[in-house]
Amino acid sequence: MPATDRTAEAVAAAAAASEATATATATADANATAVGETGAVGAIGATGAVLPVDGPSGTAAENEPLPPLPAFAAPGRVAPSLRGRVVWQQARVVAARTEAAGLRTLRLALPDWTAHVAGQHYMLRLTAADGYTAQRHYSVSSAPSDPGHVELTVDRVDGGEVSGFLHDVARVGDTLEVRGPLGGFFAWAADRPALLIGGGSGIGPLAAMLREQRASAPDVPLDLIACVRSPEHLPFHADLTADQPYSAAHVAVVYSRSAPPGGPVGRLTAAVLAPYAERALAEDREVYVCGSTGFAEAVGTMLTAAGVPPTRIRLERFGDAPDAR
Ligand SMILES: Cc1cc2nc3c(=O)[nH]c(=O)nc-3n(C[C@H](O)[C@H](O)[C@H](O)COP(=O)(O)OP(=O)(O)OC[C@H]3O[C@@H](n4cnc5c(N)ncnc54)[C@H](O)[C@@H]3O)c2cc1C
Repeated sequence: MPATDRTAEAVAAAAAASEATATATATADANATAVGETGAVGAIGATGAVLPVDGPSGTAAENEPLPPLPAFAAPGRVAPSLRGRVVWQQARVVAARTEAAGLRTLRLALPDWTAHVAGQHYMLRLTAADGYTAQRHYSVSSAPSDPGHVELTVDRVDGGEVSGFLHDVARVGDTLEVRGPLGGFFAWAADRPALLIGGGSGIGPLAAMLREQRASAPDVPLDLIACVRSPEHLPFHADLTADQPYSAAHVAVVYSRSAPPGGPVGRLTAAVLAPYAERALAEDREVYVCGSTGFAEAVGTMLTAAGVPPTRIRLERFGDAPDAR
């Protein structure tokens, strides 16, 4: 069961030999993580304020002017709306489609819709007849410019309680309890250049970002690397393969097990990543990485090895399973 999305914690990471590292994990953003370079640690409050973990507590210190709060190096988080955070609403399933092998997209009509920022997610709650409840986070894969609706793209997890229900039981016309949009850390408002790297269902929030870029900011440079097993596993096919001559977005697909005829097969490697990392470095782009825990951590490691400052990398992990790509 995922952690509640209200608590926030900061974890001081031990200094590495040459570089001290701090990881601030805001569970308000569920599994979203940024890695700071300095070793200074702050807990990120629910509103995005950075709170010192250790501070002077004596009276003399209390009378001193407060030092500036330790700056969290990643750019600001989006502050999720309070209403969206607390109010559960009954969303109606108005469409459902197979997005790709193992992925199903549910289109929900929300009676109390609030525009999300691409990268944000919803909490979905199922309640059994005996009162037992299960809640899970699902990222919005549709663009914010879709009034009254959100689309959630769900991976079928083997033995998964909620994903199994959403694949096999949920039907058009059903109602599902949701609240959101949630999470400000892994949000991208198409307002600055970015590099997006996603695996499997982790491509969902990145598709929302791509759609938003195309809809409202086609001049903002965006690179998206989508990692899937095979062409059958590629979600959002039209968006990811569309020829968009007037967009500054560039999409690349990496096929790990089988590719379209003549295409290369293999996992995302440092060599494939290198030109994207170089461009991210040269243009000071933020990098958003989303997928299974194994995928996100492997890509994060490759990015830092390629010289991308950890402070420019935002990771969102979708589960505790090893890399399934
Ligand atoms: C911020 C956030 C956004 C998310 N967005 C999405 C999304 O857009 N689409 C999506 O499909 N999922 C998303 N997830 C993951 C989702 O919340 C659930 O964890 C996932 O659907 C599994 O729930 P379940 O009830 O089906 O499985 P559970 O019954 O909780 O778990 C069953 C088994 O599968 C393992 N497991 C759990 N999660 C995963 C996983 N993701 N991959 C592989 N094995 C797993 C468990 O360890 C367990 O052994 C997101 C998670 C977070 C934190």
